[in-house]
Amino acid sequence: MPKANPRHPGFPIPGGPELRAKGWRQEALLRLLENVLSVGEDPDNLIVYAALGKAARNWPAHRAIVKALTEMDEDQTLIIQSGKPVGLLKTHAKAPLVIMANCNIVGQWAKAEVFYELQRKGLICWGGLTAGAWQYIGSQGVIQGTYEIFMRIAERRFGGDLSGRFVLTAGLGGMGGAQPLAGRMAGAAILCVDIDAERAKKRREIGYLQEIAPDLDTALTMINAAVKDKRALSVGLVGNAAEIYPEIARRGIVPDVVTDQTSAHDLVYGYVPKGMTVDQVKSLRDDGQGQLMAASRASIVEHVKAMLDFQRQGAEVFDNGNLIRTQARDGGVTNAFDIPIFTEAYLRPLFARAIGPFRWMALSGEESDIARIDDLLLEMFPDNKIVTNWIRLAREHIPFEGLPARIAWLGHGERTALARRVNELVASGELKGPVAFSRDHLDAGAMAHPNIMTERMKDGSDAIADWPLLDAMLLCSSMADLVVVHSGGGGYAGYMTSCGVTVVADGTPDADERLDHALTNDTALGVIRYADAGYDESFEEIEAKGIGHVKV
Ligand code: NAD
Repeated sequence: MPKANPRHPGFPIPGGPELRAKGWRQEALLRLLENVLSVGEDPDNLIVYAALGKAARNWPAHRAIVKALTEMDEDQTLIIQSGKPVGLLKTHAKAPLVIMANCNIVGQWAKAEVFYELQRKGLICWGGLTAGAWQYIGSQGVIQGTYEIFMRIAERRFGGDLSGRFVLTAGLGGMGGAQPLAGRMAGAAILCVDIDAERAKKRREIGYLQEIAPDLDTALTMINAAVKDKRALSVGLVGNAAEIYPEIARRGIVPDVVTDQTSAHDLVYGYVPKGMTVDQVKSLRDDGQGQLMAASRASIVEHVKAMLDFQRQGAEVFDNGNLIRTQARDGGVTNAFDIPIFTEAYLRPLFARAIGPFRWMALSGEESDIARIDDLLLEMFPDNKIVTNWIRLAREHIPFEGLPARIAWLGHGERTALARRVNELVASGELKGPVAFSRDHLDAGAMAHPNIMTERMKDGSDAIADWPLLDAMLLCSSMADLVVVHSGGGGYAGYMTSCGVTVVADGTPDADERLDHALTNDTALGVIRYADAGYDESFEEIEAKGIGHVKV
């Protein structure tokens, strides 16, 4: 039975043993589509997160996808072009059920303005990465990544945890909403600024944010007290980061860690310029695009200048993957790239071993299935400190949103071993239903993004997009259930290409084969990508795990 969804009553949370499709594989993808909307930011408009990231092109396209998933046989493949189904063709039972190409625009045309025009004509939509690929699991999806960043900073600079430290950030949206909880899990006193009171309220309601301060003075008093007592605390503040950050700097306060996760990547649909309300921005989107872009960029310039100011005074400042430095540099802040990107600064050694955000969703809708898989992880990887520490924390702190799900950073071989064991538990009936596995697009072989994932690669291969395309073809030949090739839309147009994958553990021997091939080859390619760029960790991994790397 689907469960009621108090936040979005029209979008119940899927679950239960009854199938509406002809098999569990099709049913699984249908439930994942329903799930991204049930946990999405604005499901009435099909928006899942990141301002414009959509689950389908429009409602007729959505209905056609649901119909196809419900009626299709296992030996057919549904073809989706930027959120619209365009073909249902006979393939074979080992081929993907769904293949997607989302928002890929030819190089010279891949600009925000062209994207907006194509979107206005109804020819394209942006999948926001996991939104359009039906893989988003709520704010939990990025939370371990954010937590791991905070912990790397804690280890390097603050003796191992962030207790007694002040973290300043902004953005409490679909992804940024993970920050207050990740900060608290790392022990920090974290202040999160968002211009939209509704977003702050939502994060408090779902248990990701503890307090909302009525004004900056109160917020700083609360943070100061928590810092003094070395008490973990998350505080939200409704305001514009382009005003609040410079004001904090003006008062001579230097936080220990500063970042930002507003939708700065999109100057029209994402960032809210100083002095404007969210409604004023909405009213300018169609007719005042140029004015809005200029105003957003001018505010981002002030926002980033304050971040640089904090950096000069000793704060650990980083870009958390929202193009804020790029926008500031385009606005004339020539040293914006003095701020490092989180991938290169903290996580690259993990990606070089293809250790990255792997996730699973309990299609039964039962939280007990995730609890059993948590136990399984602890049994299978007792010596993996990242995993055991994370599962302990996640169990204690992370509330479920939508279909019960978990994310954990696992690498080559580990993902396959876990998924195949879960498939056995599905077969034996120990789990109440099948489990879907996917991963973030921000994964070793899966993303080319020269200002986020692949910035400053050792061999200078930052802008080469062959790797995600190879990954997608490899995954189709490795029997994955859903494969997507995706590029940036809105402000991300022209900045990135990525590949996404989903594989369903339905307890059958076929699923075992699919999980084995798809998950193993996906991470193998990730290790190969980094070996090709010259990372020592990758060569160690190739040697230790017998990965079929061809050295030229
Ligand atoms: P979202 O659109 O759901 O939320 C953005 C939030 O920023 C909104 O709540 C909005 O009110 C707020 N905001 C906008 N302008 C503001 C301003 N001037 N001051 C204060 N608040 C402001 O987006 P999201 O899904 O949370 O993603 C945020 C950004 O992070 C995007 O650029 C996204 O692409 C990026 N992102 C990075 C990673 C990563 O791997 N690090 C992962 C996911 C998303």
